[in-house]
Amino acid sequence: MMRSRRALPGGRFTVGTAVATAVLLAAAPALASPENGQGNGNGHGNGKGGKPASNVILLIGDGMGDSELTAARYYEYGAAGRLAMDGMPERSAVTTWSVQEENPAAPDYVPDSASTATAWSTGSKTSDGRISTTAGGDEDLPTTMELAKKARMRVGNVTTAELTDATPAAPMAHVSDRGCQGPADVAACPKDDVAAGGPGSIAEQSVALGVDVLLGGGAQRYDQPTSGGSTVAADAAAAGYTVVRTAGQLDAVGSGPVLGVFSAGTMPTERTGPLAVQGGGSTGECTANPAFSADVPTLTTMTQRALDLLDSGRGNGRANGRPGFFLQVEGASIDKQNHAANPCAQIGETVAFDRAVQVALDYAKAQGNTTVIVSADHSHTSQILEADDDDSPGATATLTTADGQEIQLNYGTSAPETAAVRTSQDHTGANVPYFGYGPGAEDVPALLDQTDLFGLITGSFGRR
Ligand code: MG
Ligand code: ZN
Repeated sequence: MMRSRRALPGGRFTVGTAVATAVLLAAAPALASPENGQGNGNGHGNGKGGKPASNVILLIGDGMGDSELTAARYYEYGAAGRLAMDGMPERSAVTTWSVQEENPAAPDYVPDSASTATAWSTGSKTSDGRISTTAGGDEDLPTTMELAKKARMRVGNVTTAELTDATPAAPMAHVSDRGCQGPADVAACPKDDVAAGGPGSIAEQSVALGVDVLLGGGAQRYDQPTSGGSTVAADAAAAGYTVVRTAGQLDAVGSGPVLGVFSAGTMPTERTGPLAVQGGGSTGECTANPAFSADVPTLTTMTQRALDLLDSGRGNGRANGRPGFFLQVEGASIDKQNHAANPCAQIGETVAFDRAVQVALDYAKAQGNTTVIVSADHSHTSQILEADDDDSPGATATLTTADGQEIQLNYGTSAPETAAVRTSQDHTGANVPYFGYGPGAEDVPALLDQTDLFGLITGSFGRR
């Protein structure tokens, strides 16, 4: 397919390695290279005459590289099957490298979820572990949600992780260490502590920013005591939030702002099954996870409710003279179950994420003037092996796909991995997929850097 060099929203551009080099040399803030000023946010395929988007929905599959996508597609729908994201009009690839804390001019080829979320949330590279602060300098970097708030847009943050985990944290908080999730967790970032005059933990900052819709796990962070003798959740309620803790309560919410925390930590996965083990021979069926009770909303439900609440009373954003919204949605446990070498849980969470993508696309197609971007933060461990390969040094498990055929998944970045001794598999450094729908998200270059997503997301903010 022909792809022209073109400007990205926000006055930035990318053309393969030229920009990668520029980023490397410039470090943070990255990608200041203006090439030309044409064509900000010009729409394609939205049938709305090239107006900038009113609403932007960003969906991130944590640890969702092409191997994870392929495994989920084959398992769930068969070799000729298609995921919802496979049907989006634009597909590209995204480099994910971070930078080194001690030498921010040098790349770190295998990033974590904090540096990568900072990249699309701020347009700047940082080092692993940092949340929207600069490598080495610890300066705050303005974020997508802060910019959306300044443009008087509503903002929402949905995740199957804790709301204070790195991916949801980056657009709404600034801390030097991703571990500073609740007010009792700030030892690793003393400057950020309220007691030191800082903005507080990620949980405190999420409420202080006034994120209109917060749905996910992490009740244990919001229930920690604050320095004022309250809790973050109680402070949120005092500030006007409806605080809900079950799927039924979420269903009953009529308007925002809302804080929904549906588990103490990470939300349970929808499925489980045989763990991969070294030496192979691990087979079995994927089953529903009994921990995923009726009180736990699915990612699909959380995404739909977030859209209901962000859109409530506003119709189609700027089409009604309103400023629209920005929503970030994360499928977190594609990564976490890859670490755990649990292929059924990993695939189940990928399928659940894809269903949330369908909810976003259905909304965008019905409303118009809505941009949907789907990507991942970094690649991960799982590989698809020949079904009869029995000499892998990694941990393997074999499942039966929708085609009725065996698929063998391999986890080989950390060992040992036996039934009794479980380790944690590692992130990898390959580029990740990009899918785009709607104004500004289509006709992008064949290779993007993760910092480019920031311009695609924010290019329409505040424009009329
Ligand atoms: Mg994450
Ligand atoms: Zn991870």
